[in-house]
Amino acid sequence: MQSDQIIIFDTTLRDGEQCPGASMNIKEKLEIARQLALLKVDVIEAGFPVASPGDFQAVEQIATEIRGPRIAGLARALQKDIEAAAKALEKAQAPRIHIFLSTSKTHREHMVEKAKEEILDMAVNAVRLGKKFCDDIEFSPMDASRTEPDFLVAITQAVIDAGATTVNIPDTVGYAVPDQFGGLIRHLRENVENIDRAVISVHCHNDLGLAVANSLAAVKAGARQVECTVNGIGERAGNASMEEVVMALKTRQDFFGLRSAIETKHIMACSRLVSSLTGFFVQRNKAIVGKNAFAHESGIHQHGFLKKKDTFEIMEPRDVGLEESDLVMGKHSGRNALRHKLKDLGHDLQQEELDRVFEEFKILADEKKEIFDEDIIILVQKQKWSDDSLNIYRLGKIKVAFETGVFPEATVELTSRDGKTRTATGKGDGPVDAICNAIDKITGLQCKLLDYQVLAKTKGKDAQGEATLRVLHETREVLGKGASVNTLEASGLAYVNAINKLLLKNKSGPLEGGELPGP
Ligand SMILES: [Zn+2]
Repeated sequence: MQSDQIIIFDTTLRDGEQCPGASMNIKEKLEIARQLALLKVDVIEAGFPVASPGDFQAVEQIATEIRGPRIAGLARALQKDIEAAAKALEKAQAPRIHIFLSTSKTHREHMVEKAKEEILDMAVNAVRLGKKFCDDIEFSPMDASRTEPDFLVAITQAVIDAGATTVNIPDTVGYAVPDQFGGLIRHLRENVENIDRAVISVHCHNDLGLAVANSLAAVKAGARQVECTVNGIGERAGNASMEEVVMALKTRQDFFGLRSAIETKHIMACSRLVSSLTGFFVQRNKAIVGKNAFAHESGIHQHGFLKKKDTFEIMEPRDVGLEESDLVMGKHSGRNALRHKLKDLGHDLQQEELDRVFEEFKILADEKKEIFDEDIIILVQKQKWSDDSLNIYRLGKIKVAFETGVFPEATVELTSRDGKTRTATGKGDGPVDAICNAIDKITGLQCKLLDYQVLAKTKGKDAQGEATLRVLHETREVLGKGASVNTLEASGLAYVNAINKLLLKNKSGPLEGGELPGP
């Protein structure tokens, strides 16, 4: 009997985080993990423990703190990887070790340089070793979609015999097309003798824009776990997008007859959080979570739309958390109203955090007439960016002189953790460049600005601007964020945020052993 439940395996924190420029610190990863738990994903792949001490710690902390979802750690089919994963997962309520090994001809010859028989032995031994630490073992034959189907059958059968409880079929390079990929899953169900003893999972990449389509074709053919990421982030063109898979299953229940446990009303909050923490913006026309995804949001009010909603809308905006709350916020709103509003927006803050956000809220309410939902989200984020327990420097006053035809000059004041305030003046090609140069003079760090963007996050002329920039120092790339009604101040805050991240010792992301690819 096939279950009608689809297991949602979220790999935002592993595959998503692994893509260049998306790396997050432990605090940020924990925040996303909490949001994923609220969303009720079934499995959180928290990281690749052997990849770096930061990765190990992140998996360990998520395993210790997060309750509800199963927590998975990734490992190559190597003893040290499996032992590191097992150790990082020790405190998890429900741990899973996810072991992967390349199986396709091209990977066998050029990556692992091993023959089929050796691969088979390695896989079986790895699963057996994992089984000593953990009942729940997932095995991924990497590049499965380009592996000879007969060999895939053989290895699947062997790892299930060795104790694998989930077999994940990755389309590692995004090569598959839906009919063929669904056929491959059917082939496994028909030819692997012990297939009933494991869950079939799929992990699709989006190189041809088919990751979601391939995942759904696999589900139709009998896969019961889908690996995906929030907003579809991930290496190259990314992974299957979680919100698209989930909403397709929900909206087309009539066709699939399947369900997931996801609390879809938290989708928007999670999407915004991931976008904000990784700096990967969501395109306007992105399905489900893009700004224009719902007709009412894009301001298109066709005649038919006004007469009857479902002439154009196949989903309810409120199902993904886009409900316009009737609670209007302004100058006279109290702390309790703010708390309610924050909850509506998916942020359950601790008292201390709430107090700080409330203080900022009062200041903003004096500056701005109307406070929109986006304003409040920015306040929450700002509070995190300026978390003093993590910061070495705090931005004080900025003064910028700008005149057409003259190099702009900026004077910046920074206060360091020991309470000392220093001021420096810098010139630059533009005012932002001048601000960054002045900050560099104080910190003594030589940084290169790789990318810089300012977005108006709210409506109106007095909108808050959010500055996002990427900074390179030696070989490390970090993301900085800042928001203010004044875009130059937002830029200064973003740059200081990036500097603080550079100075933070507790860094995460793959640091050792060069590139460690995953399935
Ligand atoms: Zn992947």
